[in-house]
Amino acid sequence: MVKTALRIRDARIIDPFRGVDDVGDVWIDHGVVVEPGTIHPETTFDAHGLWLVPRITDMHVHFRDPGQTWIEDVGSGSRAAAAGGFTQVMTMANTDPVVDSPSLVAWLAERGRQEGLVRILPGAAITRGSEGRQLTDFYRLKAAGAVGFSDDGRPVESAAVMQAALAYSRTVGAPVINHAQEMSLSRQAVVHQGAPALEMGLAGAGELAESLMVWRDVQLAGATGGILHVAHVSVPHSLEAIRYARDHGWQVTAEATPHHLFFTDEILREWGYDPVTKVNPPLRPGAFREALQRAVASGLVGVAATDHAPHAADEKSLPYVEAPFGIAGLETAIGALLTVLLHSGLMTPLALFALLTVGPHQVLRLAYPGLVPGAPADLTLIDPDREWLVDPKAFYSRGHNTPFSGQRLRGRAVATMLDGVWTMLDGEVSS
Ligand SMILES: [Zn+2]
Repeated sequence: MVKTALRIRDARIIDPFRGVDDVGDVWIDHGVVVEPGTIHPETTFDAHGLWLVPRITDMHVHFRDPGQTWIEDVGSGSRAAAAGGFTQVMTMANTDPVVDSPSLVAWLAERGRQEGLVRILPGAAITRGSEGRQLTDFYRLKAAGAVGFSDDGRPVESAAVMQAALAYSRTVGAPVINHAQEMSLSRQAVVHQGAPALEMGLAGAGELAESLMVWRDVQLAGATGGILHVAHVSVPHSLEAIRYARDHGWQVTAEATPHHLFFTDEILREWGYDPVTKVNPPLRPGAFREALQRAVASGLVGVAATDHAPHAADEKSLPYVEAPFGIAGLETAIGALLTVLLHSGLMTPLALFALLTVGPHQVLRLAYPGLVPGAPADLTLIDPDREWLVDPKAFYSRGHNTPFSGQRLRGRAVATMLDGVWTMLDGEVSS
């Protein structure tokens, strides 16, 4: 891949890193942004009518690599990310083996560089083997490139372990990201405990199964001065905990997924016992979804993250109760978020894209200056009004498990650039 000198002309530049929303040009040379007019571009890309957003980041993906590479691997996950408009992802550590050693952290980042399609920020486990007992070596893991710590897929059940993890997070300056789920209230649960679950005879978990642990974690963050990030928040009581933490000035942040912002548990009726709707935490009732949308619009929840969780077709065709949890989310995220938050009038483009750019950068303590001379040319061109029908068969991800299948979305990434090189153009990922 050659790094040519390039001019992107007449784009609507939405740069949440600088708070800029303005039509203009971006000039790129040798992989970085340069001052307009200072080079002779070999090509000009006419971006009239398109939005240009720098460094779109998904801080919650599962690439199943190492260990389950037939489901997804760094290659297919990177292609899915580029296709979806992402230039940076944080991988979760619940692979096989679990990412709990510095060598695995370094290996993942290197695999990402070899593919060259998306920056991979490895997440490392909070506890050895994600077994919830003994803390990993945060200091050495961070030195090897880990940007945060999570046993995601499993909650940290022991309050004592979580307390120690949060104290450690403060020392190393990186967040602990907990999958908040009180197992004693939800061990059998496959959906939200609501009317659709009752009618279908499926075991559900209620609001407390999530919010009890979020409140616990928030109090531990307050007591330790630790850095807490709440993964895939989905119920109002959890949002109240986050507000409480913010009012006290504690270091607590949270993310919401596109599917929790888009769907309610009513979708269970539509899909019946097809496990494409099976996700953890489960899809929630309408009032919960609206509370989540308000929390995102008000800035209480400052990050949108997909929880991209691909599964093999044979697993997702198991009976509902046995099928694994998860949705392949990278290739529908931008369309879903624009449809439900932007075209609804709930958020401005600048505020919406902050959820995917400056939001995750702040949580992960990463520096990016926005589109200024010298900055790596990581950017995405978006057609905000492109209407399209989701067809999982066209995904680059190996996971086709998604309730967005057949949905009409409005807004789509049409080109993605990493370090000045197009990784996706017109829906085609470069090989
Ligand atoms: Zn999780």
